[in-house]
Amino acid sequence: MVDYIVVGLGLAGISFCETLEANKKTFVVFDDGKNQSSSVSGGMYNPVILKRFSLCWDAKDQLKTALPFYKNLEQKLGVTIDHKLPVYRKFTSVQEQNLWFEASDKPHLEYFLNPKILTNTNPSINANYGLGEVLHTGIINVKLLMTAYRSHLQTLKQIVEKPFEYSQVKCTEDGIEYGNIKAKYLVFAEGFGMKANPYFNQLPLDGNKGELLTIKAPRLKLNAVLKSSIFIIPLGDATYRVGATYDFHDKGINITNAAREALEEKLSKLISCDYEVLDHIAGIRPTVKDRRPLVGRHATYKNIAVLNGLGTRGVMIGPTVALALFKHLEHDLDLPSEIDIARFKT
Ligand SMILES: Cc1cc2nc3c(=O)[nH]c(=O)nc-3n(C[C@H](O)[C@H](O)[C@H](O)COP(=O)(O)OP(=O)(O)OC[C@H]3O[C@@H](n4cnc5c(N)ncnc54)[C@H](O)[C@@H]3O)c2cc1C
Repeated sequence: MVDYIVVGLGLAGISFCETLEANKKTFVVFDDGKNQSSSVSGGMYNPVILKRFSLCWDAKDQLKTALPFYKNLEQKLGVTIDHKLPVYRKFTSVQEQNLWFEASDKPHLEYFLNPKILTNTNPSINANYGLGEVLHTGIINVKLLMTAYRSHLQTLKQIVEKPFEYSQVKCTEDGIEYGNIKAKYLVFAEGFGMKANPYFNQLPLDGNKGELLTIKAPRLKLNAVLKSSIFIIPLGDATYRVGATYDFHDKGINITNAAREALEEKLSKLISCDYEVLDHIAGIRPTVKDRRPLVGRHATYKNIAVLNGLGTRGVMIGPTVALALFKHLEHDLDLPSEIDIARFKT
């Protein structure tokens, strides 16, 4: 008998498992390794929407939970995953500079926006109107986190690296049975894989495909994240992540020439130095129409719950919503209405 069966070991699953471990709950995870999203994530945490210069939903509180959460994981797993890096937003006009000044004066944004316009001194970057600096931002090395967390669970013999078969679930008076495993709760953290889940596939998970390039550019010499119509994220050793694309229509995880061309076209406007493309990857972000996570118990099977819809910002949102679900299941605390799947019931 375990307390929980968790399905999925991306950012949502790791956030939930880690919350279980912190609260001394027993669990087993199923993950089929067909990672859709977390394994290709840029890993950035940035509380500011850089199109409109506004704060993301609940960003300050989410960061307050997320940063200690990743720090704890670093200590526990013996890896360095949190790399603090500023984000520089390229301005394209005087009007944008003025909007930045205005935004940096707003009470909730002044903590995150440096009001000064930085002059671009990097000859490999085209930014005549200068750059705005976002503070308290960084990159989580999600791939390393996933590898280290998976190996931690392998050591504890708490992971089954196979697809979870929905048809094998039995709901009993005390909880759940799955083959010879008995559990109090079953939590699905399947990302876009939820589309195949008969318990929750009626929820409005849209999915948004994203593609990224890895490039090598020895002359770029960039040591902050650069944002214009795309991001350039330094990875070390003169390599960079470039992306991403957003596609609501294509739900396949194959890479496409169209995305590569679109990314390279934008890149050629942003930098003037040579580069070589080393890699090209794709994944599906688990996005929801109202841009809020999908969290809560099944309407009929109260011991089955979902943790999904982390959208474009899984790094920041994951730890907060995992904790909210845990408190809901264990202590019967209400979920915030904006993340509760009850909002979609008619
Ligand atoms: C190109 C791209 C760039 C991104 N950049 C950023 C960024 O910079 N910062 C940021 O915060 N977010 C970013 N995101 C978004 C972020 O990656 C997602 O919010 C997050 O990964 C969602 O995590 P998840 O655990 O819900 O889903 P997933 O990562 O998809 O994990 C779900 C897991 O469940 C498994 N699974 C599903 N069904 C089953 C089953 N039946 N049996 C067994 N296993 C199953 C899957 O194989 C997978 O391993 C990006 C996404 C993309 C695609």
